[in-house]
Amino acid sequence: MKLSAFGEKFTSNSGILSLMDDLGNALASGEDMIMMGGGNPAHIPEVEQAFKQRLQRILDNHDEFVRLIGTYDAPQGEKEVIHSLVKLLNNRYGWGLTADNIALTNGSQNAFFMLFNLFAGEYSDGSQRQIQLPLAPEYIGYADAGLSDNFFNATRPDIELLEDNLFKYRVDFANLQVGTETGAICVSRPTNPTGNVITDEEVSRLDAMAQAQGVPLIIDGAYGQPFPNLLFTPATPMWNANTILCLSLSKLGLPALRTGIVIADEAIIKALSGVNAILSLSPNSAGSMLALDMIKDGSILSLSDTVIRPFYQQRALAATDHLRHRLAGHKFHIHKPEGAMFLWLWLEGLPISSLELYNRLKQRGVLVVSGHYFFPGMEEAWQHSHECIRITYTRSPSEVNRGLDIIAEEVIRAYREG
Ligand code: PLP
Repeated sequence: MKLSAFGEKFTSNSGILSLMDDLGNALASGEDMIMMGGGNPAHIPEVEQAFKQRLQRILDNHDEFVRLIGTYDAPQGEKEVIHSLVKLLNNRYGWGLTADNIALTNGSQNAFFMLFNLFAGEYSDGSQRQIQLPLAPEYIGYADAGLSDNFFNATRPDIELLEDNLFKYRVDFANLQVGTETGAICVSRPTNPTGNVITDEEVSRLDAMAQAQGVPLIIDGAYGQPFPNLLFTPATPMWNANTILCLSLSKLGLPALRTGIVIADEAIIKALSGVNAILSLSPNSAGSMLALDMIKDGSILSLSDTVIRPFYQQRALAATDHLRHRLAGHKFHIHKPEGAMFLWLWLEGLPISSLELYNRLKQRGVLVVSGHYFFPGMEEAWQHSHECIRITYTRSPSEVNRGLDIIAEEVIRAYREG
């Protein structure tokens, strides 16, 4: 089969494809794997119950049922949801949004594909621009989303060592270059894979750099504020006309319904609606319809604040304590868990690579993700990128503890070998 350059690029081995394949195969193998690799949100009974009740109300109302399954929305997305989001966000943050500032997409992954290719790649004057990732490690899902090569540029972080075997990545502003080759800056807050939440000061400096260069700052809030609000540390949400804030209904509990929310300047929303129309005619209505009531009455915020966030925060604390206990006396650092649903374990000086550790853990029935995947756009070799693993702590506490026990055993064994 002879494929176009696009075909070749999108069928060659991508990190996200091999990762999703691996997770899917492990799930399908029927073996008793402890899944600590994926980004699937936990199944929280109270959240499931809220969506079940909403679905029942839709089934009981023929007009709503037709909106759920039988109508194409406008390319910008379901109008009532957009209006309700405008109200909710203006009430909460006073951002002065109008309905022209929000578009919906088929998952935020899909939004990143569109946004990245709107701002990076080849421009009509022949120049090339890149997406600048100011803080590596960063979300693996970005890695293959560019239509051309050399699409990302990532900057190594500063590492701040903290007490109790914790550390925190910080943006290294001294080495962060934003210039004519930059199409947009993008950062996830909280960050997948590390659980980092970049500080308000870091956000405001990135904002200033983006504005000075006349390029947008994309903030990936898939785990962020105001929903699902998987933040365990104080942080102020930021939006202005130069910011593109991407939210998602996935980590709230609706990953299968593929709903992303983009909040941006009118011209960007218009552009996204146009690409939506070409790629998909219109975004999926199901997520919009399921979340509509919650957005209208604001319960999406209270559910996030009083059920979803505490659930993950409690899991994060328990997993951190357990791992710290099991690795006591050995060399390890855990990224300060400030949000999202992962522990990022840095094994400084580990005699084997993180990929080898991942394979050994897989043999032992525990699936994690090797950290080396999470450095899209970083060309330079950096040993640190082969010394980390990402551990998802969303399964039941007993399963998480069993998984962490095995991880600790294998880490200690690897250090002893060296
Ligand atoms: N951004 C981050 C940081 C993520 O971790 C994910 C999914 O795991 C996404 C975006 C995409 O999520 P979705 O397409 O389900 O909205």
